[in-house]
Amino acid sequence: MRTLITGGAGFVGSHLCQRFIAEGHEVVCVDNFITGNLANIEGLRNHSRFTLIGHDISHPLEIDGPVDNILHFASPASPVDYLRHPIHTLKVGSLGTHNTLGLAKLKKARYLLASTSEVYGDPEQHPQREDYWGHVNPIGIRGVYDEAKRFGEAMTMAYHRSHGLDTHIGRIFNTYGERMRLDDGRVVPNLMGQALRGEPLTVYGDGSQTRSFCYVADLVEGIVRLLNTDFHEPVNLGNPHEVSILDFAKEIVALSGSQSPIVLGPLPQDDPRVRRPDIDRARKLLGWEPKIDRREGMRRTLEYFRTRLTMEEKGKKQ
Ligand code: NAD
Ligand code: UDP
Repeated sequence: MRTLITGGAGFVGSHLCQRFIAEGHEVVCVDNFITGNLANIEGLRNHSRFTLIGHDISHPLEIDGPVDNILHFASPASPVDYLRHPIHTLKVGSLGTHNTLGLAKLKKARYLLASTSEVYGDPEQHPQREDYWGHVNPIGIRGVYDEAKRFGEAMTMAYHRSHGLDTHIGRIFNTYGERMRLDDGRVVPNLMGQALRGEPLTVYGDGSQTRSFCYVADLVEGIVRLLNTDFHEPVNLGNPHEVSILDFAKEIVALSGSQSPIVLGPLPQDDPRVRRPDIDRARKLLGWEPKIDRREGMRRTLEYFRTRLTMEEKGKKQ
C-alpha cells in the first residue's frame, strides 16, 4: 500500500504518517511547511518507507508510480493561522482539493478529505448531525476556511458521483494533542502554554461558548476506519463531551498546578457559540467512539508542552 498524505508535517498529518508507517504502508508526505514543522516528522525522515515532498498542493503534483490512498489534510487549521493566510487557505481548500482529487482519479486511489465542524458555522442545531447544512457567514473573517472546506466537500462528492471515485469525508471537530504548535493560537496550546509559563490564561468573551475536544489518537483511529468503508457521505469525527471554554481554562489551571489567573478578552467575530458532534453515524458505521477522556488527553498534552518549553528554555541559555 502506498499512501499519500498532504499536510503530513502538520499536527494531525504527522500522526497519520506515523500510523500508516506502523501499518506497513509506504508513506508520501506532501507539505509546504506554511504551518507545519519538520520536527513533527523527524522520527520518520530516515525510514525506508517514508518520502517527504516539499510542495504547495494548490499547484498540481505529479507523482511516479502507483498510489493507493490519498488523504488531503493540507490547510491551515487554527483560526489565527487562517486569518494570517486567508487566500492561501481558500486556495488549498479549493485548488488543493481539486488537485488531489485529480491525482486520485489518475491513480485510481481511495480518497479522504479532512473536512471540519466549521462547515456548520455558528450552528443553530445542537448537537450537530451530518444532515445539518450549517450557518456560515461566507464573507466573515472565518469564511475563508469554512467556505473552502464546504467547496472541498462539494468537489469531493462531485468526483464521487461523476467519476465513481472512492471518496470519504471526515468532519473533524476540535482535536488536540502532542505536536500542536505552542504558538498556533488555538485554545489548547494557548491556555496550556500560558499556564505552564505562569502567565494569565486568556479566555475570549465570557467563556460560555462551548467546544468538545478529541484527543488525536482517537481521531486517527476514526480516520483510518473511515478510509476503509464504502461510505461516501460526511461522517462527524470528534468527542461528544462538551465543555465551556471558561470551565476548560479552570481544568487546565487545576491540572497543571499553575497559579495563573484567568482573564477575559474580546470574543473574535463569528466565533461559534456552541459545538458538539453527534457521532451516531460514526458509532454505527465504524464501531468507533473516542476512548481517551479529556483529563487523560490533557495530561499527556501538558507533558508534551512542558517538555517543549523546557527545551526552548535550554536553547535560549545556550
Ligand atoms: P496544521 O496547521 O498543524 O497542519 C496543516 C499542515 O498542512 C501543515 O503542515 C501545513 O504546512 C500544511 N499545508 C498547508 N497548506 C499547504 C499547501 N498549500 N500545500 C502543502 N501543505 C500545506 O493543522 P492540523 O490541526 O493538523 O489540521 C490538519 C487538517 O485537519 C486540516 O485540513 C484541518 O482543516 C483539518 N481539521 C483539523 C482540526 C483540528 O482540530 N486539528 C479540526 C477540523 C479539521
Ligand atoms: N479561545 C480562547 N482563548 C484563547 C484561544 C481561543 O478563549 O487563547 C476560544 C475561542 O474564542 C473559541 C474557542 O476558544 O471560542 C476555541 O478556539 P480555537 O481557536 O481553538 O478553535 P475554534 O474551535 O474556534 O476553531
